[in-house]
Amino acid sequence: MDIRASYGLFINGEFTGGHGEPFKTINPADEGVLAEVACADESDVDRAVRAARAAYDKVWGPMPGAERAKYLYRIARIVQERSRELAVLESIDNGKPIRESRDVDVPLVAAWFFYYAGWADKLRHAGLGPAPKPVGVAGQVIPWNFPLLMLAWKIAPALACGNTVVLKPAETTPLTALLFADICRQAELPPGVVNIVTGAGETGAALVSHPGVDKVAFTGSTQVGRQIARTLAGTRKKLTLELGGKAANIVYQDAALDQAVEGIVNGIFFNQGHVCCAGSRLLVQESVAEEVLERLKARMATLRVGDPLDKNTDIGAINSAAQLARIRELSDAGEAEGAARWSPQCELPDRGFWFAPTLFTEVAQSHRIAREEIFGPVLSVLTFRTPEEAVTKANNTPYGLSAGIWTEKGSQILWTAQRLRAGVVWANTFNKFDPASPFGGYKESGFGREGGRHGLEAYLNV
Ligand code: NAD
Repeated sequence: MDIRASYGLFINGEFTGGHGEPFKTINPADEGVLAEVACADESDVDRAVRAARAAYDKVWGPMPGAERAKYLYRIARIVQERSRELAVLESIDNGKPIRESRDVDVPLVAAWFFYYAGWADKLRHAGLGPAPKPVGVAGQVIPWNFPLLMLAWKIAPALACGNTVVLKPAETTPLTALLFADICRQAELPPGVVNIVTGAGETGAALVSHPGVDKVAFTGSTQVGRQIARTLAGTRKKLTLELGGKAANIVYQDAALDQAVEGIVNGIFFNQGHVCCAGSRLLVQESVAEEVLERLKARMATLRVGDPLDKNTDIGAINSAAQLARIRELSDAGEAEGAARWSPQCELPDRGFWFAPTLFTEVAQSHRIAREEIFGPVLSVLTFRTPEEAVTKANNTPYGLSAGIWTEKGSQILWTAQRLRAGVVWANTFNKFDPASPFGGYKESGFGREGGRHGLEAYLNV
């Protein structure tokens, strides 16, 4: 069998080759080649957009919401049925621990399709006027940290609202999007409703600038998000951007400290810290700082780094050599700028891309590790004396995606949450996602919301 046909583009319900130079996707845990993947050039993107337009005009746009819902429910159920296959492929292409892909990513993918299936025939109750209309063809570009989940966040609401889709997965994690294409076929989704184009940034750029695309949804770096906003300025395209973050996780002195330590660990080491809303800045009240750090170090010493397919693994592989280099560069800068670095004793595999869980204390707000997104398992610790100081330090960032608060006092939670400039604020928990909750950023973290009723707005004209 021609491997390019197996791992090719998915256009108009068929897997096909591309006109760009095929690329390899590797397993970051051992650097072995997993597959050669077709690359879409401008002409392939054009084919995909035309297929999406035809499906929108002839089939999906005119279809009653209740009918569209059936397809979304069917996709959700097939995702559940094929969850092992999806979880294993996600872990070997991305590097994330199987426990996370199996228990978090894949169940949330199904949940997103179930949730938006429920909206498909109720859009007139979405608070967006009596007859909201789909936008048309959506061009969607996603990153590598949650390949399947980001796909679900993008595709489920788009389809529920009656749009058709051309989606580009990240070049280091294209495989589960192609498995999802197979699920669309299994669900007998009409050809052209979902199209997948694989490739690197050029393919993404061709997609977002294609004149046949009515709406662009992008999740990725702030830098590329800015570039896309510039490209789209002056066009009639709708745009939503989900970008980077540098979340503060605030621990007050009255917090349940063991619970807070679990939340800190989950906040920064979940998915190797490749999380846009990761709690990468710990802000701990001075009076309990020593105790929190002691408990945190003890907990970090129990984290198991290694084989993503081992069910006992807590921290898997870093997704790519490039990402590993960025994490190293920023961590080295942390030391050079005077912060104190600590990691537990841990043996890392010889092959593959790995980074030990890392803690920086004596961090100043001006340090790069306190300001820039590291997108790895690296936590910067700052302290504060008063709630006012905590809020000022938490907001001292160009980003504003998420934040966490740990305290036993309800009034303290409300006081703090009201003052934080962040789209999502968790209290006594972290990294909790639910399809009914809107998610999105303030400031350089982007605009628009995904999830919940608010997530429909991006895909409807009022
Ligand atoms: P990236 O911006 O380099 O790439 C994201 C996607 O955009 C990839 O598919 C890439 O191929 C594509 N792309 C690159 N250049 C492009 C261009 N000029 N035009 C169109 N598409 C282009 O980001 P990344 O390294 O893949 O992901 C990491 C970043 O994503 C982090 O900064 C992280 O915070 C952010 N992120 C944000 C969220 C969120 O919901 N806010 C979620 C996940 C990741």
